[in-house]
Amino acid sequence: MSRLIAVFLFCPVLLAQTQQQQQTPAPYRSAPQTTAAQQEDFPPELLNELESIKLSALADDYAYHQVAHLTDNIGPRPSGSPQAKAAVDYVAAELRKLGLDVQLEEARVPHWVRGAETAELTEYVGQVRGAVQKIVLTALGGSTSTPVDGLSAEVVVVNTFDELRALGRDKVAGKIVLFNELFDKQKAAAGLSFVAYGEAVRYRGAGPKAAADLGAVAALVRSVGNADYRLPHTGYSAPAGIPAGAVTAEDADLIARFSKQGNVRMHLTLTPQKLPDTAGYNVIGDLKGSEHPEQIVVVSGHLDSWDLGTGAIDDAAGVGVAMEVVEVLHQLGLHPKRTLRVIAWMDEESGGAGSRAYSTDHTNDFPRHVAAIECDSGAAHPLGFDGRMSATAAELLRPALNVLQSFGANALQPTNYPPGADISAMSEAGVPALGILQDGRAYFNYHHTAADTLDKIIPLELRENAAAMAVMGYALASMKNPLPR
Ligand SMILES: [Zn+2]
Repeated sequence: MSRLIAVFLFCPVLLAQTQQQQQTPAPYRSAPQTTAAQQEDFPPELLNELESIKLSALADDYAYHQVAHLTDNIGPRPSGSPQAKAAVDYVAAELRKLGLDVQLEEARVPHWVRGAETAELTEYVGQVRGAVQKIVLTALGGSTSTPVDGLSAEVVVVNTFDELRALGRDKVAGKIVLFNELFDKQKAAAGLSFVAYGEAVRYRGAGPKAAADLGAVAALVRSVGNADYRLPHTGYSAPAGIPAGAVTAEDADLIARFSKQGNVRMHLTLTPQKLPDTAGYNVIGDLKGSEHPEQIVVVSGHLDSWDLGTGAIDDAAGVGVAMEVVEVLHQLGLHPKRTLRVIAWMDEESGGAGSRAYSTDHTNDFPRHVAAIECDSGAAHPLGFDGRMSATAAELLRPALNVLQSFGANALQPTNYPPGADISAMSEAGVPALGILQDGRAYFNYHHTAADTLDKIIPLELRENAAAMAVMGYALASMKNPLPR
């Protein structure tokens, strides 16, 4: 953080004044001609409200304080943990303070607890007598346990599922399989980090099961991530019935080099525990609409996190930003025409029980869900939104996007996929869905690691995200006609 920003942080009045000066509401000067439909949906009064919402959000550290509490004070929030429940109670109380009608909606969530996690190579070409090579790794979510004192087996390295199938049961049974699919750093550096993630994460998700099906005694994946600090990245993996872990990129490379030279054996100890499923909760807070309370616009992030770090960028940030939408309206005394529903989702990381429960409980309401927004791609500078909606709907949103142009968050990038895991059921049911589109170049450096902590969030960028969600959320809740499907 620059010293200038540090000074502002501790002097809210100065910060607010400076933001006001920097962000003097420019006259509404959208270069493209607005259509008659856009003008009808966004009368001048609504555009003025959106400008005020933007300026307030850009001058407000409410979201940052929420993220700080969730990450520093409450801590890691894996499904089923006492911290996850504490976070639910905390967010519910905060939303009630803002006058929202708050419900906790139950979902049965998995309860998996990390144990010991160590590994070393005990046999490799050129080994110095008595020496071993330490391997840095972490268990994947849902992994079963090795015996308490570990297991020893030969390691086989594959780069793809095809290579695994080509080896066949003969060469896999009794071994530890390492999937060494690379995370494409060039794509990430060029702004396509989610494409790189999607390509590599298949092995984390399905690799252990595929290895187990061929008789492997354990499965490891190369960490799905971008940085070179020998950090393992955990994450969800489909139940495989064998111990499953992620080794760092550096260690995956080491094992791959050794395996080209000759036999490699590993001693592996992973002792996580799968406890009985338990109750988790989505926090649902409604700011009732003044004209059409039955019509709902969802603004959301997920409250659960992985356990290695404190889940700051994934995804306390999303929850803080969604909470700030209603905090800013509260501050300004504004009331949306439709109901703005803040949702802090539970269990996005370990199976999505929260969003499944919501879609089961609310399917009949989906026709009255006008739109849904999720922020679950970090906390970095927003560029706009990924949107899954009709071209007509996207076009109608241009006046709201124009309000966000002053800080560059005005892109609406069409996508064929649901732009948020927790809003995917709504999106599949036809509800227009938006995900905040961020500069994701650094996201996978920290994602699902011990380094996902509060310091990774830049307050100014978090404010920009809050402004983007607040402007778009309020626009969707107060434009004259509900956004068409
Ligand atoms: Zn997430």
